[in-house]
Amino acid sequence: MAEKPDHRVILVTGGTGLVGRAIQHAVESTGPFGRQPGDEWVFVSSGDCDLRDFGVTRALFERVRPTHVVHLAARVGGLFANMAAQADFLRDNVLITDAVLQNAHEAGVGKVVSCLSTCVFPDQVTYPLTEAKIHAGPPHASNFGYSHAKRLVDVQNRAYAAQHGRLYTAVIPTNVFGPGDNYALEAAHVLPALMHKCLLAKRGGTPFVVGGTGRPLRQFIYSRDLARLIVWALNAYHDVEPLILSPAEDDEVSIADAAAAVVRALGFEGEYVQDASRPDGQYRKPASNAKLVGLLEDQGLVFEFTPFEQALQESVDWFVEHYATDARI
Ligand code: NAP
Ligand code: GDP
Repeated sequence: MAEKPDHRVILVTGGTGLVGRAIQHAVESTGPFGRQPGDEWVFVSSGDCDLRDFGVTRALFERVRPTHVVHLAARVGGLFANMAAQADFLRDNVLITDAVLQNAHEAGVGKVVSCLSTCVFPDQVTYPLTEAKIHAGPPHASNFGYSHAKRLVDVQNRAYAAQHGRLYTAVIPTNVFGPGDNYALEAAHVLPALMHKCLLAKRGGTPFVVGGTGRPLRQFIYSRDLARLIVWALNAYHDVEPLILSPAEDDEVSIADAAAAVVRALGFEGEYVQDASRPDGQYRKPASNAKLVGLLEDQGLVFEFTPFEQALQESVDWFVEHYATDARI
């Protein structure tokens, strides 16, 4: 095998998605939450390589020759998309992660940071969620395919550490939103779906319909905050145990309040209704960021999360500005 380069070559799978785009933004800066001297960052999409295909993935690793991997690529979707395609969410994500981790191992990659989600946690559990509770019971039924595939990432990481001494780890973000999201009306997560629905209602003079009762609570993290924390984890988190990345656990927002914030950010003045016949999904899944905060403190670092309303306004402004031009909308 050819010699490894003397600088870090970081392959970012899913580099064109919501979080991948935010990491592109984060590594425009340097420092503990950004690019290190000499870094080479390589962002790939499904068009560059279908990671469900082991052989094609091997060719990608041979071409890029990464020393580090940030593994974001996944089949991702909101509640309604997950409920409609449990088997696809399970299988695609199992195949993608198997191809990435085994090829990383075979190529001698020293460190992989993969992305889980707070969906992986048990439905029946004491709150707040902590890193120790991932496997403590079945996940919520609404996205069990995706959740089990993501739990397996943590199991695989432990197995690569046990058998091969690899430092393959995972971060666990809460619900993410930001510029460059997936805005598919039915398949997207709640905030981008509501931004899109509200903009259409504003432009078409039609009612803005929010699914479910509006009562469920979600702990949102801005993609640009998450990206800086993932880059920090790559730089400075050296443990196979997963790490929750989220704002404080009391930062929960109800779906009704999130919808109201979208209405304000878009300046929508029309009729606005809840459709309670649509599913609510999990009621809440508040996660503790105590481990993250402790680690940052130990390293003498201060991290300020962007306030929700400011992050939402930035995201809505990006969506409106790119509505006619971005390939993902
Ligand atoms: P996203 O916007 O849907 O982007 C998904 C990315 O994965 C895209 O770059 C996509 O490439 C790529 N991808 C999908 N299927 C692929 C395949 N078969 N082969 C190669 N690449 C493929 O997702 P995201 O929100 O950025 O999510 C990133 C990570 O964060 C995921 O692991 C997700 O599970 C996790 N996460 C997300 C959230 C959230 O609320 N969004 C919450 C918690 C955790 P194309 O652009 O070419 O399609
Ligand atoms: P989850 O956190 O994995 O459940 O994912 P979502 O981002 O899809 O959030 C789902 C919550 O938002 C549920 O309580 C839904 O009832 C509510 N919701 C309201 N309107 C929408 C919508 O248009 N799309 C989605 N995905 N969820 C919606």
